[in-house]
Amino acid sequence: MNPDAYKSHEYDVLVIGAGGAGLRAAIEAAAAPGVSVGLVCKSLLGKAHTVMAEGGMAAALANVDERDSWRTHFADTMRGGQYVNNWRMAELHAKEAPDRVRELEAWGAMFDRTKDGKILQRNFGGHRYPRLAHVGDRTGLEMIRTLQDHGIHQGIQVHMELTVVALLKDGERVCGAFAYERERGYFHVFRAKAVVLATGGIGRAYKITSNSWECTGDGHTLAYDAGAELIDMEFVQFHPTGMVWPPSVRGILVTEGVRGEGGILKNKEGRRFMFDDVPDNYKPQTADNEEEGWRYTQGDKTARRPPELLTRDHVARCIVREIKAGRGSPHGGVFLDIAWIKPRVKGGEEHIKKKLPSMYHQFIKLANVDITKEPMEVGPTTHYVMGGIRVDADTQMSTVSGLFAAGECAAGINGANRLGGNSLSDLLVFGKRAGEYAAKFAREHGTAGKIDEAQLDAAAKRALAPFEREGSADGPYQIQHQLQDTMQNLVGIVRVEEEMARAVDEIGKLRQKADTVAVKGNREYNPGWSTALDLHNLLTVSEAVARSAMLRKESRGGHFRADFEKKSDEWSKKNIVLKKGGDGSMQISTAPIKEMPAELKAIIESEAK
Ligand SMILES: Cc1cc2nc3c(=O)[nH]c(=O)nc-3n(C[C@H](O)[C@H](O)[C@H](O)COP(=O)(O)OP(=O)(O)OC[C@H]3O[C@@H](n4cnc5c(N)ncnc54)[C@H](O)[C@@H]3O)c2cc1C
Repeated sequence: MNPDAYKSHEYDVLVIGAGGAGLRAAIEAAAAPGVSVGLVCKSLLGKAHTVMAEGGMAAALANVDERDSWRTHFADTMRGGQYVNNWRMAELHAKEAPDRVRELEAWGAMFDRTKDGKILQRNFGGHRYPRLAHVGDRTGLEMIRTLQDHGIHQGIQVHMELTVVALLKDGERVCGAFAYERERGYFHVFRAKAVVLATGGIGRAYKITSNSWECTGDGHTLAYDAGAELIDMEFVQFHPTGMVWPPSVRGILVTEGVRGEGGILKNKEGRRFMFDDVPDNYKPQTADNEEEGWRYTQGDKTARRPPELLTRDHVARCIVREIKAGRGSPHGGVFLDIAWIKPRVKGGEEHIKKKLPSMYHQFIKLANVDITKEPMEVGPTTHYVMGGIRVDADTQMSTVSGLFAAGECAAGINGANRLGGNSLSDLLVFGKRAGEYAAKFAREHGTAGKIDEAQLDAAAKRALAPFEREGSADGPYQIQHQLQDTMQNLVGIVRVEEEMARAVDEIGKLRQKADTVAVKGNREYNPGWSTALDLHNLLTVSEAVARSAMLRKESRGGHFRADFEKKSDEWSKKNIVLKKGGDGSMQISTAPIKEMPAELKAIIESEAK
């Protein structure tokens, strides 16, 4: 490829993604002596999807309840993930999250405070004690602002509005990345000794999602195409409470913080249906009457949590049950009521507005609903992917040499279901680790690998192919919508073999369409072109979810099969692994989960009481 056809850059460490994980990784890598760091992102700096995070970050600071500890956090995370988590990641996360949160505070994050000036922590689903450090319901914004303010003083070079479309390799080792500018369409080539993927989730593969436009599974696919393994892609989290009305806002998140502050779920008959079905392993810790549940949300340490704060997978399924039984709200959801707490708290309406300012604003502006006076209509929305790039727990290196991953695109810590709040602390803990070990890798490997011209040519040719085509029956947006319908209808919250087989078949047909899709116009400001290029990522992650979901013949966490409703012992011992075969097809296998050390098992047992 003619060197004039692209702009070249060289760094010791290249970080792809500027959400919480990417920023934290870049800060850590830049702190290593003599290590240069480049940071690439699809949107503007400060606009990454992390900015949308609301409820808070989970860390056992024990500021609000002194009984909390890393042990309880570890046990909660493993139980929430239904024990297929990477236990070492869950251990590191629980141990290191408090330091990462305090560090963020030292860098300027303005957390809400307890009366004695400590970081305030709130209740969230699946967490035994109030554990989420937060800033109202705008925690992600504060996190991004703080990391960005801190990061720009560390000498990191930021490249905004660039989309990476291929990783470059020298033999078995990663040596850089190929990207295009979203505005002008110019190509960029990055040479690097180590690369960190921090590209976030896959929510845009589904029709109803809380995820931003950036979440198209790019990092998952870049890693997979470069030969890395993905694990447990069947575990997709459907958050129980997304907006359902009006249609234009369907899927937008309603934070779990609403339930943490005392919000309750009701069906159209006014019944608080979450009391109807409490899983056995949560019964000892769940309130059996409304009064006790309310006292828990107000900090009464003798009370047990209300059933609305059970794990997300369970709450989402209970909501679907109510809707399917004809007990839903007028627009196909159920009711979430925070207004009922008004007579019970000082300041009534003002209290709700202070605790949940974004929710108040969101419902008034988008749905004309005043949440201090009337209930919200909510229903499940595709929210988070627990599966992702297989990484080493301590270093975050993937199965490809020099390629690291952190944040939502990496897998392991959450097992079959993520507890709310564990993502933001995951970004800090494992972002830091990925940056540290990527810098170490770069320092230990004196020179970057050699850039292969043939790989550049192939990447450019693939990127430009949609312009070369005559025309196609369906454009990129139609294909994307067909894929979203397929995933929503056939590989959603409740799954059965026959529907998933149809989905795999449909994805194959959509791939053929995507391979021949044509785009009009030129490379400048061309969102149709960007969408055409996104299709490869969306189709790859969709196929990964559907194939893995078909293979796992049981129900666990976010993966619920109507044809295998129970958990199976056999499946509790293995992860599903995906790898690209020599012929380009998706190879699927299983790998045994490593035996947990006795001391961690003992923690889980003692915390179960
Ligand atoms: C509405 C909402 C509320 C949430 N609230 C909470 C909460 O309260 N607590 C919690 O723990 N979790 C919460 N989550 C989940 C959490 O926000 C995400 O899991 C997390 O922010 C993901 O961070 P990340 O750094 O992995 O990726 P992201 O923040 O998604 O960042 C990805 C970055 O990668 C870049 N990128 C992607 N592809 C490419 C490419 N091909 N080339 C270049 N750059 C690329 C993007 O531009 C972006 O900069 C919430 C999620 C949503 C949707």
